[in-house]
Amino acid sequence: MNHPLRCRCGKLTGNISHPEKVSRGVCYCKDCQAFAHFLGTPGDILDDMGGTDVIATLPKYVTFIQGVEALSCMSLSETGMLRWYAGCCNTPIGNTSRDFRFSHVGLIHTCLKDPSRTLEASFGPVRMRVNAKHAKGKPASMTISTIASIVRFLSLLIRARLDGSYRQTPFFASDRGTPVVTPKVLTSSERERVMNAVQQT
Ligand SMILES: [Zn+2]
Ligand SMILES: [Zn+2]
Repeated sequence: MNHPLRCRCGKLTGNISHPEKVSRGVCYCKDCQAFAHFLGTPGDILDDMGGTDVIATLPKYVTFIQGVEALSCMSLSETGMLRWYAGCCNTPIGNTSRDFRFSHVGLIHTCLKDPSRTLEASFGPVRMRVNAKHAKGKPASMTISTIASIVRFLSLLIRARLDGSYRQTPFFASDRGTPVVTPKVLTSSERERVMNAVQQT
């Protein structure tokens, strides 16, 4: 069964197929925290320890249905991950690599809210915790399930690379792999501002 994707205002909608194939995790890295501050609603995106609940899946399982013109993209630096969001209401959508052959998207929980079912019911429990050294506190360690989830996900990713299905993605042009939206790369002063906001919380 597909799980719906929706920005807060409802303009951008879509769905995720194969919810059983995802790896659900929490990332505590400073860049994910900075993205939440950039969007202006860190309290809605980050948990008490600064973690972002992320559903890692293959981009080919993500479909946008309506409002795709609202899809926006930013990056904290020229080489940073591409961070996708709905520009209509600044809802984070997910993070991808800059290279579409690395077929991965980490969908952020805020676009997966659904009154009829919990994230748990669709995607199962959190099985990975990454970059815990940047957490504001000490998240319980999940080393074994984190490694198992990463290995499992990498095998999906390698398969998508080998069979060419990495080209099926709503985030990149399938022929050249250019992002469908030109990323807004933060200037050094803009980056400094969001990094300071991360430090101060
Ligand atoms: Zn919206
Ligand atoms: Zn992160």
